[in-house]
Amino acid sequence: LPRDILGARVNSAGIDLSDPLVREPLIERLEKLAGLHWHAEPTFPAEEPGEMAPITMPHDLTREVGTRRDATQEEVDAAFERAAKIQPGWDALGGENRALLLEEAADLFEEHTDEFLSLCQREAGKTLLDGVAELREAVDFLRYYAMEARRQFEHPVHLPGPTGEENTLRMHGRGVFATISPWNFPLAIFTGMASAALAAGNAVIAKPAEQTPLIAALAVKLCHEAGIPPEALQLLPGAGDVGQMITADPRLAGVAFTGSTETAQAINRTLAGRDGPIATLIAETGGQNAMIVDSSALPEQVVRDVLASAFQSAGQRCSALRMLYLQEDVADEMLAMIRGGFHALNVGDPAKLSTDVGPVIDPDAQAALERHVARRQQNNRIVWRLEIDEQLAKGCFVAPTIIELDSIIDLKRENFGPVLHVARFKASELGQVIEDINATGYGLTLGLHSRIEATRRFVQARAKVGNFYVNRNQIGAIVESQPFGGEGLSGTGPKAGGPHYLARFATERVTCIDT
Ligand code: GLU
Repeated sequence: LPRDILGARVNSAGIDLSDPLVREPLIERLEKLAGLHWHAEPTFPAEEPGEMAPITMPHDLTREVGTRRDATQEEVDAAFERAAKIQPGWDALGGENRALLLEEAADLFEEHTDEFLSLCQREAGKTLLDGVAELREAVDFLRYYAMEARRQFEHPVHLPGPTGEENTLRMHGRGVFATISPWNFPLAIFTGMASAALAAGNAVIAKPAEQTPLIAALAVKLCHEAGIPPEALQLLPGAGDVGQMITADPRLAGVAFTGSTETAQAINRTLAGRDGPIATLIAETGGQNAMIVDSSALPEQVVRDVLASAFQSAGQRCSALRMLYLQEDVADEMLAMIRGGFHALNVGDPAKLSTDVGPVIDPDAQAALERHVARRQQNNRIVWRLEIDEQLAKGCFVAPTIIELDSIIDLKRENFGPVLHVARFKASELGQVIEDINATGYGLTLGLHSRIEATRRFVQARAKVGNFYVNRNQIGAIVESQPFGGEGLSGTGPKAGGPHYLARFATERVTCIDT
């Protein structure tokens, strides 16, 4: 387990892609894995199998990566039965024993780096840089929640009381927890939510996004190899109907969900409408994220951070920058510099190291983004749009686009892709800009580029966001350093990768003994 000289847990070092002695052999190994065919199915398949669906590559829809077999109602029922049966024993193992199993899984994840990176590319369309970051984050979640399981779930907390009275508080799992995870972090968020629920003593029914079940199936397989009982962590692949079967089950004690705000609201309604325990919902949803750049900002830094925040991962992060506010006095100069960097972006095959922007996840996502751009084109608000190579027509590519707007309130929905909006503001309008950003109702990330301390304090005091980033990009939150998650339409909290996360997966039991 990686530790620093004082013995504290440290985050995974990842892979140094700048070192050709590391990078070149890795690329060769990945080429060899490119022919593998993967399969995802329920952990305990029933005799009557559900529907099979092909999983194709986002950057080339004519190529299949593997197949998914969807869970049936019968399999969902049986999964709940097994999970409910094993959960008390899993809970009774205690924080230390569960931590050891999660740490073993983290080591196995690192040993299987190549397969994970290959799947990140082929199933999710991720660049190598994004794949490496994704695996690191998954490993960090496993080790961080292991540490938190030891801290919060191994020993009781002793509470005060009069002489002769002994009060203790213990944290326990709530029961059977479902995790419903997104395709944009098919490994990190899948692993993060499942490992948190497990660390807290729950049995987990995990439904990965329908687009990316293969990487989830590998993660689950390695967790089982690490010693986590298959009944305690069961995979149920499928689309929204499987999610619906799971969330409607009265045996469910809680759901951890990451995805769209609309789906979180639908899950909330389903949970409210069923019998059984009052289930917890932990939801991390969308964002309408802005960055504010004032006239004191360093232009080179702004260019680097705008391009990374808006276009890395093809803009498919809920933290991604959607709305750039430039102070009027410097807007033309900034835009001229952004233009240079923007036109240098390479759109293409995620397997190529030179690619900056890969595909979006599927034809539906592509069509929604194209509709948004077409509407703005009618109003002549497109500032720049990159040309993309005709050879990319077999994949779901969206040309990176920059659109001019008057205000963030003109954005009615989240545009989950490589589309950035820009507006200008006068220094005297800063308060109004923040009010407009707050008025979207979302509250996930906000970036600020300013070297004026008073401006930083002004924005920080008013912005209702979960993650506020100053003079840097606004993506890529690091486990434990930047716990991640928003408020309002962006989610319920608590933050993933933060000290309060596990508590929401747990129930507290107090014992009072009169001695
Ligand atoms: N945690 C990720 C980041 O900081 C975003 C997670 C998401 O897109 O759901 O970029």
